[in-house]
Amino acid sequence: MKKILSIVVLGIFILSGFGAGALSNIENNAVFENEYNEINERATHTVLGEYGTATWCGYCRYAHGALKELTAEGQLDFHYITHVYDKNTVSSSYLVSHYNLYGFPTLWWDGGLDVDVGAGSVPTAKSTYTNSINYCGSQSVEDVDIDLTVSFIGETEMKVDCTVTNNEGSTYGGTIQVAICEKVSSRGWTDTGGALYTMTFLDWAFKEPLSISSGGSWSDSMTWDGSSHGYPTVTEENTIVIAAAYNDEKHTGYSYPPNSNPFDAYYVDECVAAEPGAGANEPPNTPSIEGPSKGVPDIEYEFTIAATDPNNDDVSFYVQWGDDQIEEWFGPYNSGEDVLISHTWSETGIYFIKVKARDTEGEESSWKTLTLNIPRPRNSNNVLLNILTERFPNLYTLLIKLLGL
Ligand code: CA
Repeated sequence: MKKILSIVVLGIFILSGFGAGALSNIENNAVFENEYNEINERATHTVLGEYGTATWCGYCRYAHGALKELTAEGQLDFHYITHVYDKNTVSSSYLVSHYNLYGFPTLWWDGGLDVDVGAGSVPTAKSTYTNSINYCGSQSVEDVDIDLTVSFIGETEMKVDCTVTNNEGSTYGGTIQVAICEKVSSRGWTDTGGALYTMTFLDWAFKEPLSISSGGSWSDSMTWDGSSHGYPTVTEENTIVIAAAYNDEKHTGYSYPPNSNPFDAYYVDECVAAEPGAGANEPPNTPSIEGPSKGVPDIEYEFTIAATDPNNDDVSFYVQWGDDQIEEWFGPYNSGEDVLISHTWSETGIYFIKVKARDTEGEESSWKTLTLNIPRPRNSNNVLLNILTERFPNLYTLLIKLLGL
């Protein structure tokens, strides 16, 4: 067992009470790293860092800079969520009630398996965080998968879908927390270096207990509208959603290591992030349908339908002919491929032919409607028309169109 004890000079803002006047600034503090166990070669899961900060905290810019640089370098498997204490009351109450916050900056790794308080410079913070991420990532965790998607359904409204699958041989107990974040704060929340905060927490999509039987899964879906939560400036391009599954095994963590500000720590088993657009599935576009708009009874008419899918997924179709007959989900066909369908109506009338498309992920398009008029013939004794009807249905359709019958 290797024990690393690093004593570093750090600057920390202490939080002693909730009024700004009660906050004080302490320097020259010694912070002890957590005891390190043997580190495995490979990471077992993606690590989550929850970053507690404030816009007025002088040393927080070093922690922020370190997180940004580590992300940009892309060598470590982790995500981070920035909780801006003085700007978001959901964040401040979470940091205080869940983590028994001591001061800023603080990084809680994997739910409190490791805690780093203070930051003296960007390079020292990077070094400290690298050790913490490697340490947390190498721990054995329970085998759960998180499937997370987010898609925009309005100007500031998004839909978040989350599924947690338990691959263990026994029931999985824990908590799922899904955070809606901005890649870069659109609210002007900056560190004292003037940099807009990144991966900035706005609100929870989900924060729910999990109890999943072996081989089973938990799923939920929700919509969240930025405008109705005080964030009218959220955009699809700037949104990132981060999910983590926390195990229900309770440990004691310390928000001022090694032994101050204790809290109940539930370690992270898995963490994923999702962005709208590229990674997320979108439903097929509204299909097109082409064919005659007028006809006669008992003649088979052909229509060409097609639907493109933004993700180039194959598409299936569902058709209502308007006469109580339907074609249930047939296909799949390539995205954009022309598909020929035909139907015969036995009665005169006005029919609304409706078609919708579905992609391989099960997402459905809007309906497309084509109106078909099968009028009562003005002269049902017209021999010529009857012959044409029998032998040349397409010509007859054309004739009807030309004559405006
Ligand atoms: Ca699709």
